[in-house]
Amino acid sequence: MPVEVDLHLHTTESDGRLTPAELVKLVAERGLKVVAITDHDITDALEPAWETAKSYPQLTIIPGIELSTDIPGSEIHILGYYIDYKNKDLQAKLQWFRDSRIGRAKQMVDKLGELGFPVDWDRVKEIAGEGTIGRPHIAHAMVEKGYVSVPKEAFNKFIGNNGPAYSQRVKQTPEEAIELIINAGGVPVMAHPSYVNNLNEVLPKLKEAGLKGMEVHYAEYDQATRNKLGKTAAKYGLLTCGGSDYHAFGVPGEHEPGEAGPPMKVAEAIKELATSVK
Ligand code: AMP
Ligand code: ZN
Ligand code: FE
Ligand code: FE
Repeated sequence: MPVEVDLHLHTTESDGRLTPAELVKLVAERGLKVVAITDHDITDALEPAWETAKSYPQLTIIPGIELSTDIPGSEIHILGYYIDYKNKDLQAKLQWFRDSRIGRAKQMVDKLGELGFPVDWDRVKEIAGEGTIGRPHIAHAMVEKGYVSVPKEAFNKFIGNNGPAYSQRVKQTPEEAIELIINAGGVPVMAHPSYVNNLNEVLPKLKEAGLKGMEVHYAEYDQATRNKLGKTAAKYGLLTCGGSDYHAFGVPGEHEPGEAGPPMKVAEAIKELATSVK
């Protein structure tokens, strides 16, 4: 059943393929009431999204972010809601992350060339556009070249975390990402927690650092996974958040906005916790 709240969406400013305006139109047409735009390392979608949303007064757009962090042997994504996107420290850090991603993406393109799968760096930059460059842009270029049939195959064979063409981002701990979000008045939430190996070791530490929620209503998760994660969230006193993690990749089986998300009361609880909201 479609939901009213979707707290995980990407645009062309990072690795999504709808512009902020296109995304806002889509979520409004799909009947969503509260959404968060959570691009990787960038907040530039927010102002154009709010501009478009003036035509849809029933729709609220929460300013969000998604930050990639590292723990030994695993990766954790931290979402931030109601961040003060004008916060200077936040923007300086985001700029640094984005800048460092350029050299890292180039390294992956170089490795692909060495492996016998040359992709044109200029084409990858063109696909990425002005915003945050990421592996999905490289995956897209590989599909265009015919090396793989869908982006997922590029991850499975080449640029996944253990793949032969993978290159690491600059490292950041989840505690650092949580601090960055809190200092910008936002509410930190763990994204897609089932991908984290030792969740029960990690969660108490991150709760201590200020984590306020974790994704449970995540489109990719079946009911059994959601039930299990719901219990884990309750155990640590975390809000049960979620969303579609929509990128408009246009691949078979992709989850659409509004296919999953938390109840409205969770969105309200997040707003209550945000110190950026006056
Ligand atoms: P990056 O931020 O450059 O490390 O790229 C990570 C992004 O790639 C994630 O946020 C997802 O959107 C996408 N991604 C990660 N793993 C996969 C996968 N196995 N298949 C398709 N997309 C993936
Ligand atoms: Zn993404
Ligand atoms: Fe993520
Ligand atoms: Fe995401």
